[in-house]
Amino acid sequence: MKKKEFKSESKRLLDLMINSIYTNKEIFLRELISNASDALDKLYFMSLTDSKLKVNKEDLKINLAFDKEARTITISDNGCGMNEEELENNLGTIARSGSLMFKEENKEQTDVDIIGQFGVGFYSAFMVSDSIEVLSRKYDSLDGFLWKSSGADGYTIEKVKKETVGTIITLHIKVDTEEEEYSKFLSEYQLRDMVKKYSDYVRYPIMMEVENSKLKDGSDSDYETVKEVATLNSMTPLWKKDKNKITEEEYNNFYTDKFYDYEAPFKIIHFKVEGLTNFTALLYIPGHAPYDLYSKEYKKGLQLYSSGVLIMDKCEDLLPDYFSFVKGVVDTDDLSLNISRETLQQDKSVKTIAKSIEFKIKKELEDMLKNDFESYKKFFKSFGMQIKFGVYNNYGIDKDKLKDLLVFYSSNTKDVITLSTYIVNMLDKQDVIYYASGETVDKIDLLPQVESIKEKGYDILYLTEYVDEFTIQALMEYDGKKFVNVSSGGVELDSDDEKDKIKKENEKYKAMFSSMKEILESKVEEVRFTNRLKKHPVCLTTKGNISIEMQKVINAMPSDEKINAETILEINETHPISKKLKKLFKDDKDKFNNYTKILYAQARLIEGLSLENPTEISNLICEVMTENTKEE
Ligand code: ADP
Repeated sequence: MKKKEFKSESKRLLDLMINSIYTNKEIFLRELISNASDALDKLYFMSLTDSKLKVNKEDLKINLAFDKEARTITISDNGCGMNEEELENNLGTIARSGSLMFKEENKEQTDVDIIGQFGVGFYSAFMVSDSIEVLSRKYDSLDGFLWKSSGADGYTIEKVKKETVGTIITLHIKVDTEEEEYSKFLSEYQLRDMVKKYSDYVRYPIMMEVENSKLKDGSDSDYETVKEVATLNSMTPLWKKDKNKITEEEYNNFYTDKFYDYEAPFKIIHFKVEGLTNFTALLYIPGHAPYDLYSKEYKKGLQLYSSGVLIMDKCEDLLPDYFSFVKGVVDTDDLSLNISRETLQQDKSVKTIAKSIEFKIKKELEDMLKNDFESYKKFFKSFGMQIKFGVYNNYGIDKDKLKDLLVFYSSNTKDVITLSTYIVNMLDKQDVIYYASGETVDKIDLLPQVESIKEKGYDILYLTEYVDEFTIQALMEYDGKKFVNVSSGGVELDSDDEKDKIKKENEKYKAMFSSMKEILESKVEEVRFTNRLKKHPVCLTTKGNISIEMQKVINAMPSDEKINAETILEINETHPISKKLKKLFKDDKDKFNNYTKILYAQARLIEGLSLENPTEISNLICEVMTENTKEE
């Protein structure tokens, strides 16, 4: 028989398993039982659509056995089984869930992370076994196959006889070492405990021969030990149990196990709806955003059960996009078991369920926001982006639903606040909502445009995520108050007198400004004096809907279409540089030329834009710095 090698990715995972320092080795049983349960699900599900396949639900079982002397544990099921090809593909190659790990970028992760994060499935059995045998017969075949492996050196497959359909997995348990007592797994107590802890809600009976002590016949004090086959799990799915009888640990274990997370969930939402449509939902808000949440690969959806049978692993139609981070299970008796994906979309009860799930999630978030703002902030850090997307997606169709779930950093409170808090805190004379955007709160704080508005006591929302401005623009206004970017040309803070004065100045120096615009080759729409800057000499503001931050975001996208914000170079009228400019414009055109270029470069740098001509600017600055050295 030819020995075959594991695929290279699998080999790495296998090595990790064999040499694992992961302390929670007992999860191997959960993984194998969950595979067995899936296999039973598959067989039952297929029998619903294939009339030739006769399956009696009551007969579907998982058997567990151990042999202390032989040091083996056996897990068997009468599920769908595997043929030769499937044994090869499923067990010779690392499973889908685990393979994600081996992307280059995650190279430095420790094995502890790997096991916790992805649930490595079948391979975890190598944490406790020297060798493993998988004997399987597929439901549509008469042949059985035996897959054997003692780990890293590969595996063999041979054709063997197997009387019944299904899979028997035999683990040859490692001998005890100083660090690990593997023998403990070879005990009834331990196995029972592990099943209870991790697999209690598995919907098929997990049977094992156990020893019970019983009164001897005819005696009232003499006990004898009898062997009986017992069902170790309660089989009621967790979501069908009474809420008050479920411990937090049970909820959390169910979550981490089922949704391959290493961290306990952030929030658990368990509810039942009775009425025209009946269903139970157990939903979880994860403790952290999965690393692929914002990638195309991420698929939202809830597990959909109908009458206790899993009919869809990720039913997208049950979750709106903006709540796509929610994980969970929905169980209803109102759907036919062999409903197709297409008809599901049209199904009225699915729509009703989705509506009520959306309502419930939103309500939970609103309650958290109101009663436990600290937690809400944590939630928003992980998933706020999704809500912000939701506001501007589909042309803002859902914005009114979501706007009160938004929070942004506020310059006055130095913390995040909701839009309604902003309105409540507004000054009497204020009639717009100010915002400023930039890379970080600290950087925004240093923007010259921010200074004067803050000085007048106005609160400014600091937008630091690239979606923020798009979200704000989709909203347009909140509570009748328009959003105004402090870097837009339209900000008006001055009294009529001040306005008048600056207008006159700008009129007077029209020629100078148009000369500056020319020097800058029309890279700015306009050059003008401003009152808005206190101590800073210059700033760049924008006209129109596209701000400089939005320009950065859009131009960073992988598309050929580049956009340019319409910028205005504003010069602080009270700053000595204004006087200097006026003078140079009259007396020294060359220097005027250089000063204009340097000022524009400064304004760009402050906005976090790069210079188009860094060498030229550097030389110009040097020229200014060494101006008088000739005479010295
Ligand atoms: P995962 O369960 O995450 O897919 P595993 O490594 O645990 O990864 O299993 C790989 C595949 O092997 C499963 O997806 C399934 O197709 C198959 N498999 C494992 N155990 C069984 C079983 N007891 N019966 C039938 N198929 C099985």
